Amino acid sequence: MVNIPVEEGNRYKLTIEDIGDSGEGIGRIEGFTIFINDGIPEDKVLIEITKVKKNYAMGKIIEIIEKSPFRIDPVCAVFHECGGCQIQNIDYEKQLLLKKNKVKSSIERIGKLEGVLVHDTLGMEIPFAYRNKAQFPIGKENGNTLIGFYEKGTHKIVDINGCKIQHEINSKILDVLKAFIDTHNISTYNEKTGKGLLRHVLTRISYASKDIMVVIITNGKSLPFKDELIQKLTKEIPEIKSIVQNINTKKTNVILGRECRTMYGQDKILDYIGDLKFEISPLSFFQVNPFQTRVLYDKALEYAKLEGNETVFDIYCGIGTISLFLAQKAKKVYGIEIIDAAIKDARRNAKLNNLSNTEFFVGKAEEVVPKLYKEGLRADVVIVDPPRKGCDREVLNTIASMNPKRIVYVSCKPSTMARDLKILDELGYRTVEVQPVDMFPHTAHVETVTVLYRQDS
Ligand code: SAH
Repeated sequence: MVNIPVEEGNRYKLTIEDIGDSGEGIGRIEGFTIFINDGIPEDKVLIEITKVKKNYAMGKIIEIIEKSPFRIDPVCAVFHECGGCQIQNIDYEKQLLLKKNKVKSSIERIGKLEGVLVHDTLGMEIPFAYRNKAQFPIGKENGNTLIGFYEKGTHKIVDINGCKIQHEINSKILDVLKAFIDTHNISTYNEKTGKGLLRHVLTRISYASKDIMVVIITNGKSLPFKDELIQKLTKEIPEIKSIVQNINTKKTNVILGRECRTMYGQDKILDYIGDLKFEISPLSFFQVNPFQTRVLYDKALEYAKLEGNETVFDIYCGIGTISLFLAQKAKKVYGIEIIDAAIKDARRNAKLNNLSNTEFFVGKAEEVVPKLYKEGLRADVVIVDPPRKGCDREVLNTIASMNPKRIVYVSCKPSTMARDLKILDELGYRTVEVQPVDMFPHTAHVETVTVLYRQDS
């Protein structure tokens, strides 16, 4: 039995020590963990306990007794309402350090691995305007058009133009769209009744080619005055190379429907990671921070230490971005991924880049990888980039049976990565170096790339 030293409704003084997975502050009373919203490491606070559970409690700040030296004013006026960024009020250098510490402590506590080299987090020089994809809900309140974001934990649209982590040009696009909706009094979607036409606007921007795609999501097939909308958007923002109507008539939280109609220009825009080209359509998955994606993949490539003769497995390959990146330096790359559409994109992008030394398989990694192993395929280097829950045990076992020289583990969740590194350690793979990369500044997300060596190498 854990002794619970706090009581609901009581007040306590403590110092915030860390942040949790959603950016909330973490403090302790007699070793008992308390989660405190809006608490920043090194804030000295008076809190009131709002909820007590077996292993932790929740508290709210009553007073900040002494402000943390890392507490800064968020640059965004709606930081507290929005919830898109969770830690914009923490100094950026400190954000990077917190992310490194999260990785390090997961490896030590969960992975039970000692003496592992964890590098400082690779951050952005200017940690703003980095996202290449934005989606804004459209609605109305008392006859006024609202385009912006949903208030934290609700579906109430807050009208705001200018998200700081998005490309600045989004503001212009939203201005044009809003004026158009007002001029023609076009209806907007009401989630409760399922009526009204305009649901969302989604933009995709290639920082490399400068091309922009605008997707208007409608609850119905016709879009009145669409030629005028096209004319206004392209006149104001000549970088727009594609305007697509996406039809979604379902009563659902899913933003995009299945049907796309190109209203203007190309069906797809081109984006680049390094020298590689990728075709992006409204429904394609693509990494959202192109600057840091490059940093992450360069690190993965460095850790893979390819000399040109290797067979590489890229497990959980998505649209094959890492596979293609590595294929430039390897003999052969096999990519494995569960989503059929992603594999179709991977094959198309391989062709687009003339990389014929790649092969992609659709299916669950835990089934496909053992099958390929049984068929006699082997890997010199294995890359895994699993979803948040980490790698399936069967995948790890099969990787070890393949006996590769190196494994490069790309992770979006330190705790599951640490669990898997421990398993791989038991299977004969030593964790050598760990590099956190800040893919999503001002959010609590931590991305990591780790290299493991076979014990005998
Ligand atoms: N490496 C890619 C994306 C990795 S995200 C990139 O850098 O862009 C993790 C991927 O794992 C997702 O594409 C997801 O669809 C896929 N995935 C999830 N569960 C899977 C499973 N059981 N088997 C294979 N792929 C899976």
